[in-house]
Amino acid sequence: MTKLNTFEQAVADYEPVLGLETHIELDTRTKMFCGCSTAFGAEPNTQVCPVCLALPGALPVANKAAVEATIKIGLALNCRIAEWTRFARKNYFYPDMPKNFQTSQYEEPLCEDGYVEVVVDGEVHRVEIERVHLEEDTGKTLHVGGATGRIHGATESLVDYNRAGIPLVEIVTRPVPGTGALAPEVARAYTAELRDIVRSLGVSDVRMEQGSLRCDVNLSLNKPGEEWGTRTETKNVNSLRSVERAVRYEVRRQSALLDAGERIFQETRHFHEATGETSPGRSKEEATDYRYFPEPDLAVMEPSREWVEELRAALPELPRKRRERLQAAWALGDKEMQSVVNADAVELIEATVAAGTTASGAVKWWLGELSRRANESGDELGALAITPEQVAELQGMVDDGRLNDKLARQVIDGVLAGEGSPAEVAAKRGLEVVSDTGALEAAVDEAIAANPAVADKIRGGTHAAAGVLIGAVMKATKGQADAGTVRQIIIDKLS
Ligand SMILES: [Zn+2]
Repeated sequence: MTKLNTFEQAVADYEPVLGLETHIELDTRTKMFCGCSTAFGAEPNTQVCPVCLALPGALPVANKAAVEATIKIGLALNCRIAEWTRFARKNYFYPDMPKNFQTSQYEEPLCEDGYVEVVVDGEVHRVEIERVHLEEDTGKTLHVGGATGRIHGATESLVDYNRAGIPLVEIVTRPVPGTGALAPEVARAYTAELRDIVRSLGVSDVRMEQGSLRCDVNLSLNKPGEEWGTRTETKNVNSLRSVERAVRYEVRRQSALLDAGERIFQETRHFHEATGETSPGRSKEEATDYRYFPEPDLAVMEPSREWVEELRAALPELPRKRRERLQAAWALGDKEMQSVVNADAVELIEATVAAGTTASGAVKWWLGELSRRANESGDELGALAITPEQVAELQGMVDDGRLNDKLARQVIDGVLAGEGSPAEVAAKRGLEVVSDTGALEAAVDEAIAANPAVADKIRGGTHAAAGVLIGAVMKATKGQADAGTVRQIIIDKLS
């Protein structure tokens, strides 16, 4: 059992230094150095050729669309775009890498020296970008015959090279000191911002759950005033929530080790979704272990300044600008908008409004009931089994008086359980507001008869007393009455 400190104790004694390395799969039509398709989900080893299988004599050619996409990312991250750049061989052996080296970039990356600003708790944190470079993905290994899908206990390992050679962009931050107790939130906010920026550029679908955006989280601790500590690298963290949890866990684990006088090993670590823990992987190689050297089979690239400026001029509206525009359009205060951003609900609310409901209606559901459900189940908000269109439909039924908020929450139960659209769930479960005035009047008459003293008060002009009768009617109709209508009927009858 790993000994852990509480997070609060850990950040009281130590200063965390973060670092993030993010891999993004570009959605180019063809691979990085050959014409093979990048389409997802094909039969294993059907999207391969002599180049991506590294057969003798095969020669790579760089994919211009991938270079262009990387320059766009660099520009959106405020980077300098290299005037002269080339690929390098990163040498290591792994069975899912047919060449025995990865074509990557080393001393001459395509983009350098940028930054991203993220807001956490009303504070702006500037995360410096060291480099943005282009490389190729590896294939995929499948371990079969065992219980866990891991290599331990497997009887065979199968390799699928369809993914080998798909363009990957790697975005590396400089170390980020000074975040203190906010380190987990800053890591999450940075990853979310990066994802949103890349999505706005339309160069990747950046789906963390499908692995098209993968995050390696570096973390070290040091005592205030002392040198930075040894860092660990938690690999392939694949949700925003997990990024936050991985940082939190490493802070707690490392601080306990340091307190015990032990040392931190420079190593990669695996993150476990189920427990939120990390476990040791391999000891981390230094760059020199990879014996990088310039790739002799690919030409040097010199992106012309005209091309770079053309791409800069054509950049779309970036997320920060877009959030400012939406905040004004939705008439939200800074705090409320920050809650929307923190809940990762900007796009969901935008889509809900586009589907025909008001901003306040959309915000109410996504930040309220649906956020609560997501927290309960440990899901991302966007992973809930309800679409923005369905939320718009739900609020539409509330606006029409067919549902009240209480019934609407029961309708959400049904939609999340896969029973259909809000209208279908309401019909199946009999959840519509009782709009039959005859039935409501009868229920009001009963309530008046059962509460003569209250009825007298209302007759005497104390309308506030109507609450008791409304409550009785709601109870009698199992919450399916519209409170406003009931109130009106009561007052009409007693005045
Ligand atoms: Zn190929």
